[in-house]
Amino acid sequence: MNAPAETRKFEAEVAQVLHLVTHSLYSHKEIFLRELISNASDACDKLRFESIARPELSAGDSELHIDVSWDATARTVTVHDNGIGMTRDEVVANIGTIASSGTRRFLEAMSGEQKADARLIGQFGVGFYSAFVVADKVTVVTRRADAPAGEGVKWESDGKGEYTLEQVELAERGTAVTLHLKADEDDFLKGWQLRSLIRKYSDHVAFPIRIPKEVEAKEGEAAPAREWETANDASALWAKPRADISDDDYQGFYKSLGHDFNDALAWTHNRVEGSQSFTTLLYIPSQPPFDLMMGGRDERKGLKLYIKRVFIMDAAEELLPNYLRFVRGVVDADDLPLNVSRELLQQNRQLDRIKAACVKRVLDLIEKLARDEPEKFATFYKAFGNTLKEGVSEDANNRERIAKLLRFASTGTLSMPGAGSAQTVSFDDYIGRMAVGQDTIWFITADSYAAALGSPQLEAFKAKGIEVLLMSDRIDEWMLGSLSEYAGKKLKNVAKGELPLDEADKAKQEEASKAAEPLLKKLKELLGDRVSEVKVSARLTDSPSCLALSDYEMAPHIARLLREAGHDMPQNKPTLEINPAHALVKRVEAEADEAKARDLAGLLLEQAEIAAGAQLPDPAAFVQRMNRVLLG
Ligand code: ADP
Ligand code: MG
Repeated sequence: MNAPAETRKFEAEVAQVLHLVTHSLYSHKEIFLRELISNASDACDKLRFESIARPELSAGDSELHIDVSWDATARTVTVHDNGIGMTRDEVVANIGTIASSGTRRFLEAMSGEQKADARLIGQFGVGFYSAFVVADKVTVVTRRADAPAGEGVKWESDGKGEYTLEQVELAERGTAVTLHLKADEDDFLKGWQLRSLIRKYSDHVAFPIRIPKEVEAKEGEAAPAREWETANDASALWAKPRADISDDDYQGFYKSLGHDFNDALAWTHNRVEGSQSFTTLLYIPSQPPFDLMMGGRDERKGLKLYIKRVFIMDAAEELLPNYLRFVRGVVDADDLPLNVSRELLQQNRQLDRIKAACVKRVLDLIEKLARDEPEKFATFYKAFGNTLKEGVSEDANNRERIAKLLRFASTGTLSMPGAGSAQTVSFDDYIGRMAVGQDTIWFITADSYAAALGSPQLEAFKAKGIEVLLMSDRIDEWMLGSLSEYAGKKLKNVAKGELPLDEADKAKQEEASKAAEPLLKKLKELLGDRVSEVKVSARLTDSPSCLALSDYEMAPHIARLLREAGHDMPQNKPTLEINPAHALVKRVEAEADEAKARDLAGLLLEQAEIAAGAQLPDPAAFVQRMNRVLLG
């Protein structure tokens, strides 16, 4: 006796996703077919994988396929697969009550400031719900491959808040998802329309997607016997020789693999033969996937591991370092054991070789873009440059290769046409322009291009015609912690440590310091413990003051950001450097009134702090001080 149908409520978050999906996907509703076929294909992959250890699972019906059919009278479309199927508990867990991270991420992304494109629904792991964009009722009938015929499950919902579950008798394993189309969705009841959608979105699914041939009923027969024909390419694209694959094929495969709508920017497809043979097909997207910046924190997807064409698992974490997490693709290994588990993978030495090969291929590809396709490289760099920078500290073996690919704004291009933050240079460009005898690549880090360019610490370098790289991404300061040298040249921040002065400059500096001794003493007394030291600067020509940091001190704008993010950062007392030749400094020197002198000294420090992107410890006091001085 079957239990009667049971009615349950969707979890609140699922109901929200359903609402969002049906309202925001409306202009791209055909996506449902891609998503349902993708699920059917996953189910076939899973069955094939489980059948390795338990061949009885697919015995008698081992030709895996996905059938798309329609019924014009009942106004339904059905996607049917003979894959792994689901138990009752799995149905509930997978499509009824998902409180998975995917659901939450989808909700966040769709309501966040930068709204994600709803068409990326498949990337969030909530693709099933796209069925409700075109259907006002969805029926799922499924039986897990290892369950008896009596334990089929029927799930049904109108997508409004509740679903029903019922136990049914099912002779065959697998899943059929039937969409009861909404009133104005009759387009999907046409064979040519379904066929063209399959070609468009699912051509490279590796299982045959079949649709019924439309045959005339013979006279005297009520309905013709159904004949199926395959509507997609149905082969593993990566296993074909490169010469047999067109760019369109590559792009089509990328799109179905990554649930992306944009073309890939570039790809690299290679076969390695030898003691260990494997194929890699790796893509660089043209836009960051929605969760790029969350890399490492969440389970990473995007790289599928196959062993002899059998899908084994998503293995982005095992096969790609974190800083290449934007890469999408397929690795197919011939020699790994088919029963490999994630734990085994993590200690597998063959896998280390494959991983190293993936990294090499991707870096080769990026180098090729940099060399031959500057526009594509610029697109790449805009999307993923900051992610790539993580590799400088993450991947010591490839540090120099990665550093070679980095680009920065620079004072060296200011006189060139189109100068600005977009006019960037590489370390090699910089080295090519170095003066004879220069052994250091100079840079400054700041909050923004404008802040970097306006840094008072650049003045002496500008005066001497020494190029300085202007780094304004948050990650730069952190990255440079792992990059003290490039191509034998030291990398140094112009705001940190002592400047290497030549003999003449050194003498001038000493003389100036000596002459300024009483002034330095006066400033130190006026500023008290707001500063650790006051010095004459070798960095300044135009500005009255700047901060100087020790070699190992964090740049003030970064310290501020970390503090704002809730980190407990020590408040280092800054070293103030002054320019004794500046009129404002001279005014402090000449000011006899102590209160006035203290205000002026305070402003010297505060303007240096502001220029460095530091946090003013007491902004109100600064404003009052400035107003007193302005009103004189
Ligand atoms: P995703 O495919 O990214 O996991 P979906 O919302 O598309 O997200 O599907 C949710 C889950 O429902 C799948 O992970 C799978 O467990 C289950 N599922 C959906 N369709 C099928 C199917 N045809 N066969 C077996 N399981 C399925
Ligand atoms: Mg899916």
